[in-house]
Amino acid sequence: MSTYLWTPPPTPSLPILGREERLPVNRLFFVGRNYHAHAAEMGRPVNKAQESPFYFTKSPCSLVESGATVAYPPGTSNFQFEMELVVALGEPGFQVSAARAHELIYGYACGLDMTRRDLQLAARDKGRPWDLGKDVEASSVASAIVPMPKQLLDSGEIALSVNGQVRQSSDLNKLIWNIAEIIEDLSRYYHLQPGDLVYTGTPEGVGAVVTGDHLEGHIAGVGRISLDIGLAGR
Ligand code: MN
Repeated sequence: MSTYLWTPPPTPSLPILGREERLPVNRLFFVGRNYHAHAAEMGRPVNKAQESPFYFTKSPCSLVESGATVAYPPGTSNFQFEMELVVALGEPGFQVSAARAHELIYGYACGLDMTRRDLQLAARDKGRPWDLGKDVEASSVASAIVPMPKQLLDSGEIALSVNGQVRQSSDLNKLIWNIAEIIEDLSRYYHLQPGDLVYTGTPEGVGAVVTGDHLEGHIAGVGRISLDIGLAGR
């Protein structure tokens, strides 16, 4: 048995609806620009016939559970919400066809991809990596995983309110690349593993939060998510 210089950090994990066991989280993948109206509001419209999906990753230690209060992060004055459907994988797969992609799915969750938009856009416009904008501590929020083994979700309302006001409202049927297509494409580059989470992109209406804001999101057939924005940390 190995010994370590210090106690290793705990395995990131999420609760599972109706089970005592938790889902151990492996990697966090995020799809960029996967709803046309959001791509347009970012000034980067997507032509699916000529483009492939693209991805960024965040550290698994950035995961926080729905219901948390997170500190307003350092280094930004434009911290934004992105409400997203999260796919949790339960089986491994590499170079998986879209027709078989559903075999990898364990279940789904509601997610928030919290973003330092000012730093993300500055990096984007300089051709630099997005990490300071996206891989923010405590920025990958997820609700409990709802087991739906081998099921593809292809429609259903996705919405987010801030302080009771609806800010994002769309439908999963507006995903540019659907879940099977994302798994097919992502598995061309990665040996996908059980516990990998895929945040599938946000619809239009993203916006900034401030300390004291209360976020509530829901996805039809999946559930609800909430987050509170606390004081800046030290
Ligand atoms: Mn996102």
